[in-house]
Amino acid sequence: MAEEIIQPVVQEEIPIGIVKETSFDKAGWQPKTKLGFAVKKGELSSIDLIIDNGMKILEAGIVDYFFPDLKIEVLSVGQSKGKFGGGKKSIWKQTQKKTAEGNKPHFSSMVAVGNGNGYVGLGYGTAKETLPGREKATRDAKLNLIKVRRGCGSWECKCGAPHSIPIAVYGRCGSCRIYLMPAPKGTGLCVENECKKVLALAGIKDVYSKSFGQSRTRINMIKACLEGIRELSRIKIKDEDYTKLGVLDGIR
Ligand SMILES: [Zn+2]
Repeated sequence: MAEEIIQPVVQEEIPIGIVKETSFDKAGWQPKTKLGFAVKKGELSSIDLIIDNGMKILEAGIVDYFFPDLKIEVLSVGQSKGKFGGGKKSIWKQTQKKTAEGNKPHFSSMVAVGNGNGYVGLGYGTAKETLPGREKATRDAKLNLIKVRRGCGSWECKCGAPHSIPIAVYGRCGSCRIYLMPAPKGTGLCVENECKKVLALAGIKDVYSKSFGQSRTRINMIKACLEGIRELSRIKIKDEDYTKLGVLDGIR
């Protein structure tokens, strides 16, 4: 069989970096689920009531309603052809299926959303074209919004302000393992580049990290990082340590 030539795909211009969503219209929003109607009526004052009671968000509008200034960032999980051979980081992960008609490309992307102050979500979406793939991922990210427990557990700092994490945590996905540790003020985010974006959207400013396994597998690495963030809320912290570590769950 002759070797097939992979056609380069024309990509739409997409702003790289943090994008703020401003198109949401609170008054014109038409909810579709029971929870959505309750939110629009004003029965729920805060998104904490939804997350703390374990209610499932099935509508992206609910998140948009509570966070009109939600920040969206597309993470680079794929690779395209770079100069002089080798791969270049890309926000689309392109895969192909061989069919009788020819190669059918699919595009996946990973999106992180957050308000930069205690809430973060991660989503993944695949479609036959680039933009619907990103839309699916953005919707998925909004539905999977979680609350981040912040604090200052660093023995070098002990300031009691929520600029870092209160305890060291461990997250894993596949063979990727990441160990996130509290860091003193001014350290910055000492983690892998894509994890940095997720942590910044969560409102964490200083963190040390160690990673193990195939940490070049970016999708798994990001998921492991989010698993670490989730672990922060699972661990029980004593009442006396609450003030000592300056623990803050979401916005109070
Ligand atoms: Zn501190």
